[in-house]
Amino acid sequence: MAEIVRGVGVSPGFATGPAYILPTAPLEPKTLGSPQEERTAYDAAVVISAAQLEEIALQLRSEGHDSEAGIMEAQSLMARDPTMLDAVHERIDAGQPAAHAVQEAAADIKAALEALEDPYLAARAADVQDVADRIIRALHPDFDAPPMRDPCILVAHDLTPSQTASIDRTLVRGFATDAGSPTSHTAILARALDIPAVVGLGDLTERVQNGQEIALDGEAGTVSLNPDGSEREAFARGAAAQAEQKRRLHRLRDEPAQTRDGHRLTLAANIGSPDDVPAALEAGAEGVGLFRTEFLFAGQDQMPGEEDQVEAYAAVLKAMPDETVVIRTLDVGGDKPLPYVPATREENPFLGLRGIRYTLANSEVMRSQLRALLRASKYGKLAIMFPMVSELEQIEQARTLVAEAQAEVGGEAEIGIMVEVPAAALIAHQLAPHVDFFSAGTNDLAQYGLAVDRVNERVAALYRPLHPAILSLLAHTVAGAHDHGRWAGICGEMGGDHLAIPLLVGLGFDELSMTPSRIPAAKERIRNLELAACRDLAQRALRCATAAEVEQIVRNRF
Ligand code: PEP
Ligand code: MG
Repeated sequence: MAEIVRGVGVSPGFATGPAYILPTAPLEPKTLGSPQEERTAYDAAVVISAAQLEEIALQLRSEGHDSEAGIMEAQSLMARDPTMLDAVHERIDAGQPAAHAVQEAAADIKAALEALEDPYLAARAADVQDVADRIIRALHPDFDAPPMRDPCILVAHDLTPSQTASIDRTLVRGFATDAGSPTSHTAILARALDIPAVVGLGDLTERVQNGQEIALDGEAGTVSLNPDGSEREAFARGAAAQAEQKRRLHRLRDEPAQTRDGHRLTLAANIGSPDDVPAALEAGAEGVGLFRTEFLFAGQDQMPGEEDQVEAYAAVLKAMPDETVVIRTLDVGGDKPLPYVPATREENPFLGLRGIRYTLANSEVMRSQLRALLRASKYGKLAIMFPMVSELEQIEQARTLVAEAQAEVGGEAEIGIMVEVPAAALIAHQLAPHVDFFSAGTNDLAQYGLAVDRVNERVAALYRPLHPAILSLLAHTVAGAHDHGRWAGICGEMGGDHLAIPLLVGLGFDELSMTPSRIPAAKERIRNLELAACRDLAQRALRCATAAEVEQIVRNRF
């Protein structure tokens, strides 16, 4: 009987094969040199590592993975970072071998980042370790991982972004790591490369031997050790079914997202950079329902200039000139601080200076983004969306800034808001005349509506977007929009959720926006529904007392 190890699935898909355990380089030198010799060896290792990272970045860029290339470029900068250099030199001068000094200096930097208790910065700590490991390997030129010859599943303690980017993708069928989180760059890369991956598996590297047969389910987040014949067959069937499902769904690519009785919705994509557009188009997205621009701002060490922003926005608009592209203004704050925005420590950052509150308080940031957006608007159908709106005054102030930017650079755009604060949902009727559209951000609407921190595992069981109270806020949102002839969309994770879709159709949403990989299944789901039945379901769901009851009535009927 196979042993199952549970982690977090971060990139869906099935994979089986022998484990290939990535070894770590030794920290002890064969012979300890003088501090001067250790310094020279370290300085050379830094140059080699930075050059390797630049090379990986170039390779990724030539394959069209621009944001992943950006990660490697950032790591190359990290390798040459003066703070790191000084910290290592200091330790070497105190008599430590270079590899030790690198390891310890990196550990200090990592600890400082992790102490900030922020998932984004904690994931950056993984980058620091990645860079340190690379430098340590460069200090041991005779150390090399054994060559990978056959198809395998890569197992590592914490597979680093640069290792992920440089592995042989013809041989690696999946990743499994002891550490890691869904927001780590390894997870981001695995998804971008479409390789099944599970992270957070605890002590997997201790429990598995090189060459041992393992099976990985990137959706369920499990790794099965020594799967027997029947389990391997089940995996093979799962993989075949998945491939067949992909083919079947692909055939719907150019079909409308329309219920059986002819009610049409728009299925749009959530993207974080222009690099995500090809996947969105391939999935059949009819436009972009949410471009999270903070990723553009987070991928570097300073605010992007207006020109860089125009380029990024124009790239998306040009790729979809006939479809609406909703670009959200910077939603900094909460769980998304920017490395170069000196964050004042807030007791409750999710209730603090986040989204439109930040950009209205720092109007230069907003002005430059609005100018860039309006300048790019000539390439397509732009819609500008403001996050975290809770008051009419915020819309009025934002509109004044839009008008001022328009007076400077021209351009045109629809103007909308995210409905993600319950107050906005409850006064949707009063807000609607002042905007062109609403898009419900259900990730936050559920967080604020249920008072459940969306990134706190301890209260995760209470995070139920299908709670009748949240459905009621959504019903208010749609009614407010439609009563004033505005359209209403959804751009939270709920928009692509199999169970939620019949409810959202029944509540009357006009557009559902989701991560591109979920679009084909959402379309199939909609094409099997009937509007009248969905409406009836939604009305019944609004009268339920619990999320569990809502889930039950959806399951019973669809
Ligand atoms: C949301 O809150 O639902 C949303 C789409 O925005 P984000 O996840 O970026 O906060
Ligand atoms: Mg949000």
